[in-house]
Amino acid sequence: MKWRHEHDAVDIVIVGAGAAGGVLAKELSEAGLSVVVLDAGPWRDPQKDFASDELSMRSLAWEDTRIVDGTEPFGMGSHHSGRGIGGGTQNFTGVFLRFHESDFKTKSIDGVGEDWPIHYKDLEPYYSRIEKEIAVSGPKHFPWGNFNGPYPYPERDPLSPNAYLFQKGCEALGIQSAVTPLAILSAPFEGRPPCTNRGFCIEGCMPNAKFSTLIVHIPKAVQAGAEILPNCMVTQIEVDTQGHVNGVLFVNQGTTYRQRAKTVILCAHVVETPRLLLHSATPQFPDGLANSSGWVGRSIMTHSSNDVYAKFEQEVRLYKGTPVLASTQDFYETDPHRGFARGYTIHSHGSRPIDMAQGISKASHEPVWGPQLRQIMLDYNYYGRLTMVGEVLPQWDNHISLSAEKDENGMPRASVTFNYGDNDLKLIDHAVENMKLILKAAGGEVAYVVSDTQHLMGGCRMGNNPATSVVNSYGQSHDIPNLFICDASLFVTSSGGNPTNTVMALAARTADYIIELASS
Ligand SMILES: Cc1cc2nc3c(=O)[nH]c(=O)nc-3n(C[C@H](O)[C@H](O)[C@H](O)COP(=O)(O)OP(=O)(O)OC[C@H]3O[C@@H](n4cnc5c(N)ncnc54)[C@H](O)[C@@H]3O)c2cc1C
Ligand code: SF4
Repeated sequence: MKWRHEHDAVDIVIVGAGAAGGVLAKELSEAGLSVVVLDAGPWRDPQKDFASDELSMRSLAWEDTRIVDGTEPFGMGSHHSGRGIGGGTQNFTGVFLRFHESDFKTKSIDGVGEDWPIHYKDLEPYYSRIEKEIAVSGPKHFPWGNFNGPYPYPERDPLSPNAYLFQKGCEALGIQSAVTPLAILSAPFEGRPPCTNRGFCIEGCMPNAKFSTLIVHIPKAVQAGAEILPNCMVTQIEVDTQGHVNGVLFVNQGTTYRQRAKTVILCAHVVETPRLLLHSATPQFPDGLANSSGWVGRSIMTHSSNDVYAKFEQEVRLYKGTPVLASTQDFYETDPHRGFARGYTIHSHGSRPIDMAQGISKASHEPVWGPQLRQIMLDYNYYGRLTMVGEVLPQWDNHISLSAEKDENGMPRASVTFNYGDNDLKLIDHAVENMKLILKAAGGEVAYVVSDTQHLMGGCRMGNNPATSVVNSYGQSHDIPNLFICDASLFVTSSGGNPTNTVMALAARTADYIIELASS
């Protein structure tokens, strides 16, 4: 394999071209730094490589074997992370929410979780910048949190039948709802068309109406001079005798290569970033890099993402439209009367048939299959669905470690351990009851509750105290100053809303910090 910077020590090597890596590649290369981006997966062309096909497009997910453990082991497939240039933004649903001020201060406000080393106001300019840059569509007035709109682009219209039923149910119960802020165009932008509402967003968006770093940040980074290397799995971070990182080893088609760099930024997401740090242990850093605190891989979080299906007398057609088009955050903040801390978002959430069949087959303790499942799927058009995004509190025991099993590159496979805590379970029960009430109020007959998880966060949390965190608020390792971590693994708590706006805002903030360091 030959590449432009084969013999150079570039300013920056970025591992992972997903939500965070894409932002960093663009910002740092536009600032004049030499940048190489390595991603384990392919560089796809949406018009050639995406298809309106639920099964074949599962290839967008990170499907390498991971060892899962705990009382609520993750599925670790298409619901959890992406692979290839664009990372999880290729197959994400496009829901684009900001965290609320309280998300950064759960310990001080509610006595649970931990405080972040930043406030909402530290991210506010970056949220605004990212939302403008990708023309997020959303309501004129968003009723919750610190930012109440208007969004750069108008809210989506018309909505799907599932979203209208959700709004009807909320209205009957006095629950506020709003059209969901989405990284999906409601009008043309930078040569890209508005959404055609065919609903294959999780399969990758062929028309390019949905934002992804594949089609927005990576092309801009390339234009600014960044070199992007697909199908290159980084297996090791290298350290010099001074204890600084000086590059990475990566495998392409079975051969190992080296990219030297002055600064290494890990953007490989919640499982792979800790895995790389732990696997890169040296005699100087025997417990893995950036791990003097022992916090690498610790306190990983997901969102509880239980679905409730209800059957309606009229057709709903869950495949219609962008999956999420209306939401409520009326239950987002702590209410002491509920008996648990923190809260959740509820989305009206479409579903393609295979997703629904797989979900419902696991809905009860008795498997739903055979003629019963066939009959349910014959009635597919009559089902509506709601999904929660529930805050899961950080717990030290939920963690990534290296297993004894090795992959084809000789790297130990990741082991992922996860259990819900009491608070998480009480929160889920509350949300499921509310989803049932909303569906009933909309005229549906509640039929199935499917327990699920979605979105990964944590594992290399940020903090001011090097004894209890891995990096500072800019993602800079407390132990190794030229090693940065910048992806969803930085999260200290999970919030009750979808995370990617925050992942990208943090990346834009880290980019500014690195540019400032480079110029000083
Ligand atoms: C089906 C689905 C739906 C989602 N919907 C939403 C949504 O609606 N709203 C929302 O906010 N979030 C959503 N998410 C979550 C969102 O995708 C993530 O929050 C986001 O992509 C995380 O960004 P990241 O930069 O941390 O990692 P990623 O975007 O996952 O990028 C990591 C990249 O690193 C690469 N990589 C990993 N290891 C290595 C290695 N060793 N060497 C080289 N490359 C490597 C991977 O190939 C990948 O491209 C969804 C996710 C999924 C899977
Ligand atoms: S519904 Fe819209 S965003 Fe989703 S795949 Fe189709 S065009 Fe893209």
